[in-house]
Amino acid sequence: MELTALGLFLLDVSRGSFTQSALFGTLMLSVLGVVHTEIAIGLERLRRQVADTPHGDLSSVWTFAAAVLLPPALATVVVLVIFTHQWFRVWRSIQVPAYRHTFSTATVVLACHAAAAVLGYAGGVSPLELEGPRELLTVGLAILAYATVNTGLVAAAIALSAPLPRPSPAQLIGHWDDNMLELATLCLGGLAAFALASNPWLVPLVMAPLLVLHRAVLVRQLEEVASTDSKTGLLNAAAWQSRASKELRRAQRGRTNAAVLILDLDHFKSVNDDHGHLAGDEVLSAVASALRTEVREHDLVGRFGGEEFVVLLPELGREPESTAELHAIAERIRHRISTMSVVVSTPTGSLTIAGLSVSVGGAAFPDHGTGLDHVLEAADTALYAAKRDGRNAVRIAAAVAMPRQHAPGRR
Ligand code: GH3
Ligand code: MG
Ligand code: MG
Repeated sequence: MELTALGLFLLDVSRGSFTQSALFGTLMLSVLGVVHTEIAIGLERLRRQVADTPHGDLSSVWTFAAAVLLPPALATVVVLVIFTHQWFRVWRSIQVPAYRHTFSTATVVLACHAAAAVLGYAGGVSPLELEGPRELLTVGLAILAYATVNTGLVAAAIALSAPLPRPSPAQLIGHWDDNMLELATLCLGGLAAFALASNPWLVPLVMAPLLVLHRAVLVRQLEEVASTDSKTGLLNAAAWQSRASKELRRAQRGRTNAAVLILDLDHFKSVNDDHGHLAGDEVLSAVASALRTEVREHDLVGRFGGEEFVVLLPELGREPESTAELHAIAERIRHRISTMSVVVSTPTGSLTIAGLSVSVGGAAFPDHGTGLDHVLEAADTALYAAKRDGRNAVRIAAAVAMPRQHAPGRR
């Protein structure tokens, strides 16, 4: 990738003769890119305190504007100036390997060329002439080409270098919000290009919406951190409770059934006592992953407290099949945990912990309660029954005759 980008750059330079206004545009976009990085450093530091995921740094607003407006050689110069500055001010200090940053730089250079190729093929855009909807379509296609090449190359690099098991396509392409953010940034870049062509002094106006976009990333990541249990990656108790209540309200409106499972690991204290709390934490994390894989994508899995987990299963079938289904799901989870062996690392080497077991209590909505608290209480009582009956067992709350409040007029 780096060689291709370099080759294209040399070819562009050998062909190029640059107008005064193109050189001014290069200077303007480079300076704005550098100023943007400097302003955003504070936001980035804050963001990194809450999440360590890499994200698009929004500099594509300047690089895409360069791709639209400038000859490819000068667009590449803008990319090089912005990315070199970023390396010294941002990435080097957080120990991002140099090869990775070089690769990112190369992918952006190639993305600029892809956008320029689309624009060239469409006969270019002429920012000063009001030409109608064709321009919109052309810039839209250029945005698509830029985003596809950039995201595609980065995803391919991650796919080829990630350890097994390989990340899923969804993980590679990234969060929907991040991709929308990238698209929004590119749209701003398109507008910046048009502003630059009509009056370069208008371009700094792009900075304010750009910084607001940057804050939007921060807010989403804060929300994610605030709802995640850091030890297991599951929903934390507060987030689980709020989402589960929402699901139950939805079930009430849609007159569907739902169910709750509470799980408590058996004699977990002895895992800690025998192997230490750090090993205990690794077991908790492995149990959480197992739990996640044993339920459907849209089931809500949370860590309720210490070594207690909760699952909300929306859209179960109708009684009496739903109880049988709930029992089968709980039994599958119990079996999975009883056959797990977790490899944990201890100061004296790695060690395999097996022989785990879990007690599970289940209750259904609306049969065992009309609100989350009632259903949880019923599931908790069932869990205690499982513990009393010798642990490593599943108990489902006995059906009680509940007025089916969620189905008015159905009785
Ligand atoms: P049982 O549930 O079968 O009655 O026995 P238990 O030993 O699991 O008892 P209980 O549920 O009362 O105790 C929970 C134990 O879980 C106590 C504590 O040592 C451990 N624990 C709770 N939270 C954590 C945690 O975050 N990390 C680790 N390593 N251990 C935890
Ligand atoms: Mg417990
Ligand atoms: Mg326990």
